[in-house]
Amino acid sequence: MGTPAAPDSSRPKVLVVEDDEVIGHHLHTGLQSNGYTATWSRTGVAALAEASRASYDALLLDLGLPDMDGLDVARTLRSRFRDLLIVILTARTDDIDIIAGLDAGADDYLIKPFSLTVLLARLRAHLRRQTLNAPAQQQPIHLGDLTIDPTARRCTLHDAEVALRPKEFELLSLLARHAGEAVSRETLMAEVWDVNWFGSTKTLDVTMAVLRRRLTEATETDPRVSHLPRIATLRGHGYRLEI
Ligand code: CA
Repeated sequence: MGTPAAPDSSRPKVLVVEDDEVIGHHLHTGLQSNGYTATWSRTGVAALAEASRASYDALLLDLGLPDMDGLDVARTLRSRFRDLLIVILTARTDDIDIIAGLDAGADDYLIKPFSLTVLLARLRAHLRRQTLNAPAQQQPIHLGDLTIDPTARRCTLHDAEVALRPKEFELLSLLARHAGEAVSRETLMAEVWDVNWFGSTKTLDVTMAVLRRRLTEATETDPRVSHLPRIATLRGHGYRLEI
């Protein structure tokens, strides 16, 4: 019998949503013994109820649940909790599935099997960044019809808000602060994710693809838009926001 972890309000709270007994138990105990307060839900319905009952910092979400599609759980919780960190756990390795997950509101993904060490490193990096990104006074950036307001964390096309996830917003902000300049992949990974990031840089490509699509969609639905900056890919280097 281990000593039960003392409830401590300073420990980040993580909700694990996983129907696999072995993986769920491994994640739950691993988090508990590494400074987190973890709760384990085995179904989508239980997870939605638990997320409404208590306030969580992060959600680890298996996509293959017995009662619901994990993507629907992500979508529902994202619409309710804008700042909740959502990491999807998937055995699916196709880009299309990862894009669907990020599109449903996830901030990151891990492909099974993954090690607890990698998971803990990612959680630490994400949660540290959330703290670092707390209020900073910065002037809004105007680029053509697009306005990026770092303080309000809003992106608008004319007066219409373009809904962006935190990473998409940070990517766009960083490129906008260096509009017209090449920004390397290494800089983007270090600034938007973390200097100590050791996950796949595919996350960058996927997030960039989603960001571009959101901007394109917003442009298509607003006939007034005529000057939207374009994000150019610089092969072997990175990206540049062209004015
Ligand atoms: Ca499963």
